Amino acid sequence: MKVIVVGAGVSGFSAAWALVKKGVEVTLIEQGPIPNPLSASGDQHRIIRRAYGGQGGYQRRIGDAYAAWDAMWDDLAEKHLVDTGFLLLSQVQGDDGDTYLQGLKDGGYPVDEMTPEETATRFPFVDPETIRFGAFSSEGGVLLCQKIATGMRDWLTNSGATLLENTRVSAVNAERGEVTLEEGTTLSADHVVVTAGAWTLGLLPSLSSDLTTYRTAVAYLTPPEDLRAAWENGPTILDVGGTVDGYVLPPVAGTGLKVGAGVHKRVSGPNEGRDPEDGEGITIRNLFGPPFARIEEYGVADVVTCAYTFTRDEHFFVKSEGKLTAVSACSGHGYKFGAVVGQKIAEGVTSGDLGKTRIWLEARD
Ligand SMILES: Cc1cc2nc3c(=O)[nH]c(=O)nc-3n(C[C@H](O)[C@H](O)[C@H](O)COP(=O)(O)OP(=O)(O)OC[C@H]3O[C@@H](n4cnc5c(N)ncnc54)[C@H](O)[C@@H]3O)c2cc1C
Repeated sequence: MKVIVVGAGVSGFSAAWALVKKGVEVTLIEQGPIPNPLSASGDQHRIIRRAYGGQGGYQRRIGDAYAAWDAMWDDLAEKHLVDTGFLLLSQVQGDDGDTYLQGLKDGGYPVDEMTPEETATRFPFVDPETIRFGAFSSEGGVLLCQKIATGMRDWLTNSGATLLENTRVSAVNAERGEVTLEEGTTLSADHVVVTAGAWTLGLLPSLSSDLTTYRTAVAYLTPPEDLRAAWENGPTILDVGGTVDGYVLPPVAGTGLKVGAGVHKRVSGPNEGRDPEDGEGITIRNLFGPPFARIEEYGVADVVTCAYTFTRDEHFFVKSEGKLTAVSACSGHGYKFGAVVGQKIAEGVTSGDLGKTRIWLEARD
């Protein structure tokens, strides 16, 4: 069996990996380099956690997500997941920190609840005057995306897959199982899988009623010198509380201290606004004080823009027609499921039962 995969973000290279392991002849086509820094999967790190409150179907699937990463680490002979644990902060009653804590308790997950003072003693970058509580759970951490992508690129190459980098697909034909490359060549296969992230609508505009593309940016910060060690040994912060939907990834395994916020996104095409705006890093940084003390002392080392797709209810998306399957496992929370999404795509394509893949990815049960 021959399969073409369009797009080498986490969904695409994981699908290629799982297909190769099933003996499929795979061609993986990426418009940029692999890893592509402009893809949603191309940043330094992404959060993974076991407690997935509020989205029951994904909560029931997170064990499979961890198992799939373990299978990938076996093939890469290296684990690219750092178990930092994660912290929740609450600034006002009913904020996301509060809701996540309730989810942890309801699910019976291990969690240390701390007063503001206890939180600031353990994590000295927190301003205790601005929070209601802190809560730490040991079962979470960060996935090292660039190391995973580089490892997968090499593994796929060594395993006989064909990787076409800097090669843009300009059209797909579902009936014939064909893709046309920008330079004019047409390639065909038994099945074509489109995992094109924020660029999906460029290839398949009919999906515009299902998918919306956003642009956001994250800031890499340099903490004050006396807080550097605290951050280097710090947790992932799943939510900083308040109203900004803010999260923090600590500087581990060669990565930087990264902050991002759900409020800092807007509807946009995937190639628009990809250069950071003047002062954008400071704007993002300032969303984090409160709850962090001395936020103005943090330098902005870098600002990285990002484009990603959302479905209306933030469940993943799969649509098959003829010899074509389009997958968008994103909505801002898809990286952690990347390896298992690849496995589910491979199972569906090789068995012909893509309905089962759709049910798994949509996670409504
Ligand atoms: C700021 C931000 C923070 C996030 N944080 C988290 C987190 O902490 N945890 C988590 O689990 N998830 C998180 N996510 C979501 C996660 O990053 C995405 O779900 C995931 O990376 C999507 O992967 P993908 O492979 O579907 O898309 P992408 O990574 O975007 O990959 C699509 C690829 O297809 C290529 N492509 C597109 N069109 C073509 C074409 N025509 N020809 C050839 N190649 C093409 C693109 O160049 C790109 O490389 C976050 C997302 C963002 C933006």
